[in-house]
Amino acid sequence: MNNLAVTMVRGIVGESNVKLGEPMSAHTTFRVGGPAEIYITPQNTSRLIALVKLFKQLNIKYYIIGNGSNLLVGDKGIKGAVIEIGKDMSEIHISGDTITSGSGILLSKLANSAARNGLSGLEFASGIPGSLGGAVYMNAGAYGGEMKDVITSVTYLDDECEVRTISADACEFGYRRSFFTDKNYVILSAEMRLKYRSMKLIMDDIKELTEKRVTKQPVDKASAGSTFKRPEGHFAAALIEQAGLKGYSVGGASVSEKHAGFVVNNGGATAADVLEVIRHVQKTVLEKDRVKLETEVKLIGEF
Ligand SMILES: Cc1cc2nc3c(=O)[nH]c(=O)nc-3n(C[C@H](O)[C@H](O)[C@H](O)COP(=O)(O)OP(=O)(O)OC[C@H]3O[C@@H](n4cnc5c(N)ncnc54)[C@H](O)[C@@H]3O)c2cc1C
Repeated sequence: MNNLAVTMVRGIVGESNVKLGEPMSAHTTFRVGGPAEIYITPQNTSRLIALVKLFKQLNIKYYIIGNGSNLLVGDKGIKGAVIEIGKDMSEIHISGDTITSGSGILLSKLANSAARNGLSGLEFASGIPGSLGGAVYMNAGAYGGEMKDVITSVTYLDDECEVRTISADACEFGYRRSFFTDKNYVILSAEMRLKYRSMKLIMDDIKELTEKRVTKQPVDKASAGSTFKRPEGHFAAALIEQAGLKGYSVGGASVSEKHAGFVVNNGGATAADVLEVIRHVQKTVLEKDRVKLETEVKLIGEF
């Protein structure tokens, strides 16, 4: 990206919200990934729109991220811009049983705010380490709940830089996918309708789900959660474990000993290590069980 473009970006969001050559390992829960050419954290929707318009005019590629908890970024990094929708875009409004929030809010914070207001429906999401935007994009889910159960509408920025609002029906929610999958739209906010319930019961459920997570998942290691989608009629973790792949490692990456569905970074892993473990698991399970394991984790950048 040339100096003029960088100056224009700084003019929109200010010096402190722009980083050049920023390591993506600092912005992903896998703790791997090379540098983003330019890394930007816009403060609000109007600056975000100005940025996206600029990138379209200059033909600069941009990639939207939330909390980076479902990403594997290549060691050679990302050419173009990475735009993080984070805490500056996380304003929350609660009115009766309805919560509207900016997409940068973390699900843990959102679930806690709901609980404190005696609103139930987001307990399942309290332990998912993503942002609301990432969760809508992915239709994140756990323990029987999914974003689709609570979302009533989503406001986003489309390809023409128009702000649009669609109802949940139009969001095409499916298993770890939505209307937004593979589009370069920016999810700006979402409205959720919840159910009134006692705060204590909600908090008790959140505590129980947290304990389940800590017992079953390698939460002490860097990862991006479940590496693979659940193949129809099977469970990825069971197939991987039965193939004897628990603990299989390349460099600093391995199949978790605690939960075979997670590839983890034991410290010092590269994206290439993680990818090699993923490819080996896919190949072995395909050969042994004729089941194709697709990654749930999004692979971006250059490897
Ligand atoms: C320990 C651990 C446990 C996990 N457990 C679960 C679980 O139980 N259930 C589950 O579903 N997932 C789980 N995950 C995966 C992950 O947390 C979810 O997929 C989450 O919804 C991703 O949100 P994010 O903000 O981190 O998105 P990112 O990883 O930043 O991005 C994911 C995708 O969403 C897009 N995106 C993000 N924000 C926006 C936006 N504002 N507008 C448009 N597109 C956007 C990105 O372009 C990308 O394609 C887990 C991850 C970890 C590390």
